[in-house]
Amino acid sequence: MRINIIRGQNQIGGSIIEVAFDSTRILLDAGSELEETDPVAPPIDGLFLGNASFQAAFISHYHGDHIGLCDKILPEIPIFIGKAAGRVTNAARAYMGKPEYRFSGFYESGKPFIVGDMVVTPYLCDHSAFDAYMFHIACNGKTALYTGDFRSHGRKNFCALLEKIPQVDVLITEGTTLTRSPARSVSEVALEQQAFQILSQTEGPAFVLMAGTNIDRLVTVYKAARQANRVLLQDLYLAAISTAAGGNIPRPRDFLDVRVFTTTGADERYEQLKSYGNARIGKDQIANLDQRFVMCVRPSMRTYLEKLSKLKSFDNGVVFYSMWEGYKENPDMANFLNFMREKGVRIVSLHTSGHADGNTIDALVEKVKPSVIIPVHTENSAWFSRYRDIDIVEDQVFSF
Ligand SMILES: [Zn+2]
Ligand SMILES: [Zn+2]
Repeated sequence: MRINIIRGQNQIGGSIIEVAFDSTRILLDAGSELEETDPVAPPIDGLFLGNASFQAAFISHYHGDHIGLCDKILPEIPIFIGKAAGRVTNAARAYMGKPEYRFSGFYESGKPFIVGDMVVTPYLCDHSAFDAYMFHIACNGKTALYTGDFRSHGRKNFCALLEKIPQVDVLITEGTTLTRSPARSVSEVALEQQAFQILSQTEGPAFVLMAGTNIDRLVTVYKAARQANRVLLQDLYLAAISTAAGGNIPRPRDFLDVRVFTTTGADERYEQLKSYGNARIGKDQIANLDQRFVMCVRPSMRTYLEKLSKLKSFDNGVVFYSMWEGYKENPDMANFLNFMREKGVRIVSLHTSGHADGNTIDALVEKVKPSVIIPVHTENSAWFSRYRDIDIVEDQVFSF
């Protein structure tokens, strides 16, 4: 087997990995660089240009740094993703007026997928993107595991996942947090308790700033809101995503105390709002709700919130800042937070990483017992030298 980390070594994001044996060639992830607004595909023959020479592309999850170049892949190459992940990402794209991604099919957790000489088995894992997977690859008597992005402090049982994953020869693992976080991350459940406590001590309205596609966080916020007897208000974008996620994800219509609002009166948006029936809610109704609320917001909603604050005071309110701290330096975000402060709302950070902490990576290594580790999606490959009996490979291409 030959593993070629085309991109994503010694950097976070932009992951593109080729696995090949004989004439079988597959792709794991087709990510754009972080913060790349108009992604450009690197000139990779057989993948993005020339004659297609990959038999399949497997996307681990819908974050741009893993899927962002998906629409640049040659049309002859089939692309596979988890079913719910495919629905969520295309719902988000449709809402933003972007063309949907082309998926040829959907893989399932634990079900082997045969491509030429290779058997690819996806394993559902926990991450800040919904329906994210690791990939186990077996070929010619050799095995490898690619983790994609994962963590153990979300709502999925990490021990149960570890029990399913077999030992491998080579582990390709992410190490995102190894430069920036403590060894053990705060869990989503702990965030939920923290949010509930703050909500129960807050007289005014509550707001949440979070990534719309961070479904685990949406569950955390909903559970805290329910315990505090508050209505959860999702804007149309979030409602489109939660509805696409389906299952036990809190969304308007199917869940108690989840309502949907729009910040614009544009015809298209109004039609979308109408489709939610009685779950929709207008500005005046929000202002006059008997129950208090938790409203999901974004910096672009400033004009709407200005109007809402005229109908209902934001005094003694709270904004949960539920994203990476670094985004606070973004001018739009900084302005928005100042605007909310001026309305009498305090800002409280409520966040935990979507990525594995050091202890989690230790547990995975202990379980799969690789003889080789290829660190990816990290700025601190040196961290892995702690595993004295394991070869740490930092070359772009590794054959075994
Ligand atoms: Zn990533
Ligand atoms: Zn990710």
